[in-house]
Amino acid sequence: MVVSYSHEPFTNFKEENNKKAFQEALTYVNTQLGKTYPLVIDGEKVETEEKITSVNPANIKEVIGYVSTVNKDLAEQAMQSALKAFETWKKWKVEHRADILFRAAAIIRRRKHEFSSYLVKEAGKPWNEADADTAEAIDFLEYYARQVLTLKDGSPVQSRDGEYNQYNYIPLGVGIIISPFNFPLAIMAGTAVAAIVTGNTILLKPADATPVVAAKFVEVMEEAGLPKGVLNFIPGATPEIGDYLVEHPKTRFVSFTGSRAVGCRIYERAAKVQPGQKWLKRVIAEMGGKDTVVVDKDADLDLAASSIVYSAFGFAGQKCSAGSRAVVHQDVYDEVLEKAVALTKTLTVGTPEEVSTYMGPVIHEASYNKVLSYIEIGKEEGRLVAGGEADNSTGYFIQPTIFADVDEKARLMQEEIFGPVVAFSKARDFDHMMEIANNTEYALTGALLSNNREHIERAREEFHVGNLYFNRGCTGAIVGYQPFGGFNMSGTDSKAGGPDYLVLHMQAKTTSETF
Ligand code: NAP
Repeated sequence: MVVSYSHEPFTNFKEENNKKAFQEALTYVNTQLGKTYPLVIDGEKVETEEKITSVNPANIKEVIGYVSTVNKDLAEQAMQSALKAFETWKKWKVEHRADILFRAAAIIRRRKHEFSSYLVKEAGKPWNEADADTAEAIDFLEYYARQVLTLKDGSPVQSRDGEYNQYNYIPLGVGIIISPFNFPLAIMAGTAVAAIVTGNTILLKPADATPVVAAKFVEVMEEAGLPKGVLNFIPGATPEIGDYLVEHPKTRFVSFTGSRAVGCRIYERAAKVQPGQKWLKRVIAEMGGKDTVVVDKDADLDLAASSIVYSAFGFAGQKCSAGSRAVVHQDVYDEVLEKAVALTKTLTVGTPEEVSTYMGPVIHEASYNKVLSYIEIGKEEGRLVAGGEADNSTGYFIQPTIFADVDEKARLMQEEIFGPVVAFSKARDFDHMMEIANNTEYALTGALLSNNREHIERAREEFHVGNLYFNRGCTGAIVGYQPFGGFNMSGTDSKAGGPDYLVLHMQAKTTSETF
């Protein structure tokens, strides 16, 4: 019997032996830099002339690896490979598919710090953020492997005398998995294996900024025994190739995680029925956020300040769940702001390779420029009270930045910045807090700091977000504990890491036999 699921513990870097082990893994990964990585199509490693050069965002002269890029012909070959593999993979026993995930989890767990080190180097994640990303990838493998076992006999339905009714789940077909840079291991792996374990075959396109860690994961899946053609690895797909695959008549579903703009584009294109297409495509689209930490007047103000600061600046604000807005009751506004500014000034910004670094760089030049442009907008829309400086001489570093007294409708309060910037807005009363909390087009995460039970219960109903937290920050959902996904323009609310997620990759078939 499979032991019950519990999430992978985080590493305590205060312990010397853990620190040493991580340092050794970093040293090892440093010896692996600059290698080349192929596409994988039908189990074959395919090297292409054109390569993505993946660089360290904290030290842009350092190359992490060179990764082959797919072109349209190879994308079509990958599709044909996935179509062929589907014919056999869909018939595999569910238990055997699950075992591949269990084995992959064990392999990654044994090499946990090595994977985290790739995340430090390629994504600029500080140690604890990298460790959490790797732990989450292990969690997805462990959780979905167990979850699929609960679905293998379908769901119970009634039968009348003389008949036998069954309700079973079957796979969909070929899926296109498109993942973002910010959880380059966890989200990439989680979305890929959810599709695979349910009997589908996939084309996996990781983010351009983080293809090496994805290539390392693909190696693990092969080592774990995944048959050829089930996972076809196609890094470097341009938007045109993305469109080609999304529109492909043989694509059965698309699982996308990323920005609102790209998600909406995919949703729209996938909806159009193409010549030769025999189904309506399914789209899972998990998109952006503009997440709010709300502070009530009777909250614990130290807890409120730390919840705001750590939600805003963890991984340099590059989380869809990042708390990029603080809405604070007018009675405690000045005090919370002051505490948040003081705490922010203690945060260390620098190379993520040092265990003492709290915040590393943002991911690339485009992101750096985008965040700086929002800091300029912030200077017009609010009062700069912390940060605002940036330095791109070695990597893309931006200081954690706070703007105070921002109007609730200002751009800084409405648009996803995806960097270390948080805007403070003052609220008159609890009604006003809820009004501001719900005033963006996004609805992903949120937090309420309050000791008022009536307000907590009101927020439970009125604060319209997919993941709502009380008396803590708004980031850090755990697989199997806080299933994750948002409402409105934050996406299709697929709830990754939750009990309903796998079924999105399957279709239900009813059979009824009369005796
Ligand atoms: P992004 O720019 O939207 O990219 C996401 C993925 O889509 C990348 O692999 C990207 O490839 C690919 N892509 C771009 N254009 C495409 C097209 N026309 N067809 C197919 N694929 C295409 O997002 P990102 O900057 O990587 O990630 C940050 C965003 O993701 C934020 O908005 C964040 O809120 C969101 N996010 C949401 C969740 C959630 O669960 N709701 C979780 C994490 C992140 P390239 O890398 O090659 O451009």
